Amino acid sequence: MPKPILMTVDDDPEVLRAVERDLRRQYGNRYRVMAADSGASAMEAVRQLKLRNDSISLFLVDQRMPMMSGVEFLEQAIVLYPDAKRALLTAYADTDAAIRAINSVQIDHYLMKPWDPPEERLYNVVDDLLDDWQANFSPPFEGVRVVAHRWSPAGMEIRDFLGRNFIPYQWLDVETSDIAKQLLTTSKTDITCLPLVVFADGSFIPKPNVNTVAAKLNLKTKADLPFYDLIVIGAGPAGLAASVYGAADGLRTLLIEREAPGGQAGRSSRIENYLGFPTGLSGGDLARRAVAQARRFGVEILTPQEVAGLRSDGPSRVVKLADGAEIAGRAVLVASGISYRTLDIPGAEKLLGAGVYYYAPMSDAISYRDGDVYIIGGANSAGQAAMYFSKFARKVTMVVRGAALSMTMSQYLEDQITATKNIEVLVNTNVINVCGEGHCESITLRNSKTGEERSAPATALLIYAGALPRTEWLAGVVERDQSGYVISGQHLSSGESRRPKGWSASRDPYYLETSVPGIFVAGDVRHRSAKGVTSGVGEGAMAVKLVHEYLATL
Ligand SMILES: Cc1cc2nc3c(=O)[nH]c(=O)nc-3n(C[C@H](O)[C@H](O)[C@H](O)COP(=O)(O)OP(=O)(O)OC[C@H]3O[C@@H](n4cnc5c(N)ncnc54)[C@H](O)[C@@H]3O)c2cc1C
Repeated sequence: MPKPILMTVDDDPEVLRAVERDLRRQYGNRYRVMAADSGASAMEAVRQLKLRNDSISLFLVDQRMPMMSGVEFLEQAIVLYPDAKRALLTAYADTDAAIRAINSVQIDHYLMKPWDPPEERLYNVVDDLLDDWQANFSPPFEGVRVVAHRWSPAGMEIRDFLGRNFIPYQWLDVETSDIAKQLLTTSKTDITCLPLVVFADGSFIPKPNVNTVAAKLNLKTKADLPFYDLIVIGAGPAGLAASVYGAADGLRTLLIEREAPGGQAGRSSRIENYLGFPTGLSGGDLARRAVAQARRFGVEILTPQEVAGLRSDGPSRVVKLADGAEIAGRAVLVASGISYRTLDIPGAEKLLGAGVYYYAPMSDAISYRDGDVYIIGGANSAGQAAMYFSKFARKVTMVVRGAALSMTMSQYLEDQITATKNIEVLVNTNVINVCGEGHCESITLRNSKTGEERSAPATALLIYAGALPRTEWLAGVVERDQSGYVISGQHLSSGESRRPKGWSASRDPYYLETSVPGIFVAGDVRHRSAKGVTSGVGEGAMAVKLVHEYLATL
């Protein structure tokens, strides 16, 4: 943690040097001593320190300064640092002003110049003030701060991105947080610049997108090498597993992820069916551990970076990135998973990110405290969400199209839902409308059996309506089924032959190999895969074994 600051301000260079020297000698090992030669320059420094979230423990300020007196400086500085101790340096003639300042800016002490010897006339006072300050001091948050409106979709996107990339951040609601308001003042911005992202070094970006934030945080989006043994596309469970096992086996492995490691699993509040975790674990934890393991084995991870194309060039498989860069590999694994399916509910689109979410980020749960949350969907992902958000919301209502949850949900989860008092399940029901000014306020429900319609207040509408592969970028590259899933192994057959059209190798495709030798597929994106975390991890591991077999044929 950076040292707290002792700030001294004086327009007389000799006096300033002397105070600074005395403070540094006595307190330099525990505090950073900063000196400013005018109220204006000190104020500028205070603003910068506030942006960096540094702590100021004490202002020791000369009263008589030409442009801005000590008291005038303190009046402004304590708005940003109300807990800092305040001491005025005064000449005998300024005693009255100092006494008045006890009331106007609640100064804690005034010191007469000269303060020699400091052991007697300075340190006793400062020790006392610092002891008091320390007693009430709580260390400031160190990390990225996001200032946004509670219902801002852009703010939500940044928070989700930071959370899923394991970057510690603090969200400050501009309507309720004093710190948020101070950050707008110190950065000389206003609410038209929201969301405002303030970094630990005090720099800030108004209205950023995830790419500008990623660049500022030095997230890696460019590959170190032009050529790899294995390029893995997608860092969900399948891609993470393949990367870990590939790199552990000595393959130079590059993992490319469009959003954040973890994939769909990263949105899971509690995965209870993953082997070896009897009490379950959150998808975020699983992803964090897998990323650490991948890094340990030397996997190079690019995120956020999107793969936009793939082609063969002789024995190389060339991946084209969304930024136009190309990287070649001896083998490629497509583990790009599936993306959520959207529903066409009138009113929902304009409130997307403002109370209406597809696969809502868990980091947002606190926003629904004591609210009424509606969840569309009856599968396990919707059930997990209901369990998780029920810890925060006043009530969670699951809206299920079918006649019963058991048609689509694991029994253990259905039992948990039934036993949770603040979860209600509405079967045979659809949401047919969403309303709200700036954020979701109410929804209309329709019972498909009786035709009855009713409106209900809703803090949030969370949609878990299934998912589809987004593999348009593979069109014409590898064979896909009608829904876009990538076909592999024995499912690739043309007529009587077990080999796909254009197949160039003198062997049949391996189980997880696509219609192009050397391009493999694993996880949810694969045609007829089992879907799920365990099978994704299993297929990722198996793909590496098959990559080795393929490489041995080259
Ligand atoms: C809320 C929720 C809860 C769930 N709970 C469970 C559970 O309890 N148990 C269970 O077994 N399963 C669960 N699942 C399902 C499970 O998470 C998935 O089956 C699993 O994540 C699939 O892994 P995957 O690696 O194949 O794909 P995904 O997890 O979908 O990961 C694919 C990754 O590829 C990236 N990507 C896509 N296209 C590109 C591109 N062009 N360039 C770069 N990157 C790209 C995506 O951003 C994504 O990160 C849950 C799913 C959800 C949404």
